[in-house]
Amino acid sequence: PVIQPVDINRLIEEMACLVEKEARLRKITLIRRYREDLPPIRTDPPLVRQVVLNLLNNAMHSIGEDGSISLETRLMGDHVELVVSDTGCGIPEELQSRIFDPFFTTKPPGKGTGLGLSICHGIVQRLGGRIEVESRPGEGTSFYVILPVREEE
Ligand code: ADP
Ligand code: MG
Repeated sequence: PVIQPVDINRLIEEMACLVEKEARLRKITLIRRYREDLPPIRTDPPLVRQVVLNLLNNAMHSIGEDGSISLETRLMGDHVELVVSDTGCGIPEELQSRIFDPFFTTKPPGKGTGLGLSICHGIVQRLGGRIEVESRPGEGTSFYVILPVREEE
C-alpha cells in the first residue's frame, strides 16, 4: 500500500458522486452522515476507494429501485468507522458467513463474480482494519469498515 494522509469524508463523497446519477434514476436517496472533525487517516486511497465503491454498488443492487443508502463516518478512538447501510433485500442469516468468500454470489451467472466482498475483505485486512456485516432480511444491510487512524509519530 502507498500510505498517505487521507480525508476519509472527502474520499467517500467522491465515490458517492460516482454513483449519484444512477441512484437518482433508480429513486435511491444517498444520505450523508459524515462526522465533521475526523482526523486525516494514514492509508492507501485507491484501495479504500475500491472498498467504498464495491459496497455502494452492492447496496444499489440490493435495493433495485426505491430506497436509501446511508454513508456514515465515525471516530472510535484510534480507528475510524465507515458505515454503508442500505434499505435493500438483506442477507439471509445462513449466508452471512459466506459473503466474504471468493466467488460467493447470489447473482445469476454473468451478473456477478462474487469477488467484490472478498477483495474488500483482503484490502481492509492489508490496511490493518476489519470489515463486518449486519443484516436483516427484508429490512436492509449495514457494512462496517474499521480502519486505523495511524497518526504519524
Ligand atoms: P457479487 O456482487 O458479484 O455477487 P460480492 O462479493 O460483492 O459479489 O457479494 C457477494 C454476495 O453478497 C452477493 O451476491 C449478495 O448475495 C450478498 N450481498 C453483498 N452486499 C449485499 C447487500 N448490500 N445487500 C444484500 N446482499 C448483499
Ligand atoms: Mg458485488
